[in-house]
Amino acid sequence: MKRRLQTGNQNWVRQRNLRIVFNYLWDQGQPVSLAELVKETGLNRSTMGSLVAQLQSWGLIMESGISDPRPGRPAVLVQVDGDGGRVIGVEIGVDFIYVVLLNLKGAIVWQKQIEISDNGDVLAQDLVLNQAQTLIQEAITQALESNCPLFGIGVGVPGIIDHTSGTVLLAPNLKWKNVPLCDLWTQRFRVPVVVAHTGNAAALGEQLLGVAQGTENFFYLNGSVGIGGGIVIDGKLYRGEEGFAGEIGHMTIVPDGPQCSCGNRGCLETFVGGRAITNQVRQAAREGRVPSLLNLSEIAGNPNAIKMKHVLYAAEQGDLVVLQILRQAGSYLGIGIANLINAFNPGLIVLGGTLSLAAQYILPTAQAEINSRVLAVSRKNVQIAVSLFKFESNVVGAASLILREILNDPTEKMQQLGFPVKTASNSRWNQSSNKTPRRRIENERAFKDDSA
Ligand SMILES: [Zn+2]
Repeated sequence: MKRRLQTGNQNWVRQRNLRIVFNYLWDQGQPVSLAELVKETGLNRSTMGSLVAQLQSWGLIMESGISDPRPGRPAVLVQVDGDGGRVIGVEIGVDFIYVVLLNLKGAIVWQKQIEISDNGDVLAQDLVLNQAQTLIQEAITQALESNCPLFGIGVGVPGIIDHTSGTVLLAPNLKWKNVPLCDLWTQRFRVPVVVAHTGNAAALGEQLLGVAQGTENFFYLNGSVGIGGGIVIDGKLYRGEEGFAGEIGHMTIVPDGPQCSCGNRGCLETFVGGRAITNQVRQAAREGRVPSLLNLSEIAGNPNAIKMKHVLYAAEQGDLVVLQILRQAGSYLGIGIANLINAFNPGLIVLGGTLSLAAQYILPTAQAEINSRVLAVSRKNVQIAVSLFKFESNVVGAASLILREILNDPTEKMQQLGFPVKTASNSRWNQSSNKTPRRRIENERAFKDDSA
């Protein structure tokens, strides 16, 4: 098929240049002079002045002092204004809901987490939605009180998502089926909503804000009840043919191993998932091998009350039985990671959620397995890193889905929110044409358009 050449009218060029300038400022994370922007983009000074003025009028960037205080040569500096807007991140966990508010620079400015369960069972869907909506409303109130525009709500759900409609097709651990979450919350909160698989959202969050910045090929492994994941290949999220990619927790590690919730046996998460680890510690407690835990007031002698946070506490206290269980989990994790490295030759493996909280106990044995099982050529340059956000990696990842939209196209985002947009000429703005692709820009050249 003949590929069409990519051209654009003046509005399209301006929209693209605004994106490039805003991304440059966002990536720099510090004040930048107009002269530097002119030098980096190759655009002329008046065009750059107009682009900067537009970003400033939207409140996305602000003046930030002058670079040269000598008389006659003051150069005004600009930088991204953290208070230029807020984004909400929501993580629907199996037994908790976590909501955060990020500023425009990606820093958490407000957060709240609540535990939800019905006597140890999963809470009914409408109750989960109600609780989440209450928390989201609190976050919206916080954003309004700070006088910052709200750009949208990013949601991470541990299930299979139709990423075009934002419908949760199936979330087995939540017992959800065909929940049109994006539609529900867009109508309710009247702001843009993006819904994604938790592991995918977290992988994208690490790429935008965390330890995977600048890494083209990496895996994100999240520990919670099970093991979730996200795969980034050539800088893009890999969804697979049907959108189900990333189920790293269901990689078979031991053919006749423990029964997994997926119906298979011996999956990675039956050894490394939070539920698997907690169950082993509970069993050890029943056998009287971890008396220190049973004596905790929260546990009060009931092994079934032991949760992952208690396991981590016991490890911190140096409980040998618990440490041994975690080391063993680390070995299995290492086998799983070795399989991934041999198959994909990634540059980085990021551990998030409970895997990041337990990293110091599981990493040494995981690393030993990786060293012995990975082909020497693939082993050389692969890094195993703990998520910058640890337990917050999923919820920050969910929020990053909205940040990504602003970075991808500030013009479209501001227009969506009802902000005035100056067009390159006096012609009417045509929003539907020339949408830029949904990806971060890398070394993209600005288009020279002196009339912009
Ligand atoms: Zn499984």
